[in-house]
Order: sequence, then structure tokens, then C-alpha cells
Amino acid sequence: MILSSESLDCYDRCERRYAFAQQYEPKLISPLGVLYAALESALLAPDDPEQAAKDETMRIAAQKEITLTEINKFTTVRHIGYLAGIIAVALRLRLGSMSQVQNCTQNGFDWKSALYETADGKRHRIELVSFWDDDRLRACAHSWRVIGELAALQSPLTLTTVVIGPHRGGRRHSAWAKGLLHPVNKTLRFAPRNAKKTGFNDSWTKVWREHEGAISTERWLAGMKQDGVLDDLILSREIIYKPDDNRMIAARKEMGILAEAMESASENAPMRRSSCDETGRGACPFSPCCYSPTPVMPADLPQLYSSSLAGYA
Ligand code: SF4
Repeated sequence: MILSSESLDCYDRCERRYAFAQQYEPKLISPLGVLYAALESALLAPDDPEQAAKDETMRIAAQKEITLTEINKFTTVRHIGYLAGIIAVALRLRLGSMSQVQNCTQNGFDWKSALYETADGKRHRIELVSFWDDDRLRACAHSWRVIGELAALQSPLTLTTVVIGPHRGGRRHSAWAKGLLHPVNKTLRFAPRNAKKTGFNDSWTKVWREHEGAISTERWLAGMKQDGVLDDLILSREIIYKPDDNRMIAARKEMGILAEAMESASENAPMRRSSCDETGRGACPFSPCCYSPTPVMPADLPQLYSSSLAGYA
């Protein structure tokens, strides 16, 4: 069996969802799902990460339906492509080029890692978050995405968090995606540099990056840096690995127990209602089945799901 932090997380949240995901692939994908996929392509691309991000966003959009809110698909795809692109460029400038951490064997099962390795040998977990605070840090540090990787790979990791801002009106609101242009000299700004100033007057124009193709990524990032907002949007924290730590011993043991239980996961397991609509994750893709007024399985909704033999393997 192949285990991953994603499969453990899914099973933890809802056995039924895990069982569905083993057999069916949702045709609908959230904007955040597209953003993660585009960022992965960009971070692993041999060159031009920004173009790789845009290409991957287009590829996914051609194959799947994206959960839309207030803006149309074309605008959403453009927004995500530009957002993934600039984040990838900023991460590669800070961390260097990256490769995927190879699978390993642990306690009789294979572990598929979601970490990226940089040239200095450090392994990074990249998390995209709306905001960052102590509660979010604790949630990340306790998740399978960190604990599972530490216990399986038996090596330290760096939790690198990218703050992408809240999702409102179909777009992510942060300096990665929007800025202010001076009405006359077209200077791009993000925040006042004078501590006494609280903002900009109404003559400055709010702009979205995807509408300002003439402004290069380098200029946009330089503006973020000059205004002191860049360092608050990429945060890294070292997570040490101690082989004798009881939390690691317990996690490895539990991974074995869960791997066995996952083999017999059932679509008829009780619903886990607190997992259906979690903040920051969006609705579970199988909610059309669980919340249907009549009994429905994914196979009855071919417009929403395709059969998948891949599951989490
Ligand atoms: S909608 Fe809720 S109960 Fe149904 S599979 Fe998803 S998380 Fe589980």
C-alpha cells in the first residue's frame, strides 16, 4: 500500500470520503486545488516557472470544471495562473530550484512524500494559507502533512507558508495579486513606507496583476520588497526530527494501524458532518452525494465524477 499525508488526512477527516476517492475522481476542482497543482508544476519546472504555472492552470481548466463564485472561468483561470506564477518565482528566488522528495518504505508500506527538496538538502512543506497566526501554525504542525512526513522520512523539514490572502469575489486579496498605481507617474505600491501614514488617497488606482501584463513579475516583486510586504507573505519555520520522541514513535505506529483500516474503508461509513465544509478547504467534492435528498452514489452522477483506479496511490 502507498500512504501519503494526503491519504491519511482524507481518511482522518472522513472514511466515506476516502472510500469515494479511491474509486471516483471529481470533475469539479476548487480554485485552491488548481493553485496548488499549478504551483507544483512551476516549482518543479526546469525553467520559466511562471509560464509553467500558467500552462498547468490552462491544462486543468481544459479538463475540469472549476468551482466559481463571482467571476467567470476565464478570469478565474487568469487570476490563478498569474498568482501561482509569481509565488513560484518568489519561492525559487528565496529557496533556489527544487525537486520532489522520492518515495520511501516505512514499516512495510511505501510513503509518497509531498515535500520539495532544495539544493542545500533541506526539505520543505509548502502551505498556502489565507492568513497566518498561532492557531494556524499549531494546526499545520499537528497535521499529517508535517507529522506524517517527519515520521515516515525520519528527517527534519522546513514548513514554508505562503500567505495568499482571503478568497473574496473569486480572487485572492493580497499583494501577490493586487496593488495600487499612482495616477500620474504609475508607481506601483502596496503599503505606506511612512509608519505615520495609514493608506493612500483615492486618486491611486487599485489594479489586479493579471490585468497589468506590462508590469513585469520582477518589478512587481521588487515593489513588494520595497514596501516591506514580501517578507510577511513567505514564512519558514524549521521543524526538527527526534527519532526517540514519543510523538514520532506513536505516529509511525498509528500510520501502520490506519494503513490497515484504510484497506477496508467503506462508502457507507457514517457521515463526518464537521468535515464537509471546513473553513479554508471548501466543500467536500462528494457533498452532492451525501447531501442529496434521494440516495445517490458518485456512479449515478457521471457529470460530476469519473471512475478512477488511481485513488490515493
Ligand atoms: S460530504 Fe461530508 S460526509 Fe460526505 S464524504 Fe464528504 S466529508 Fe464525508
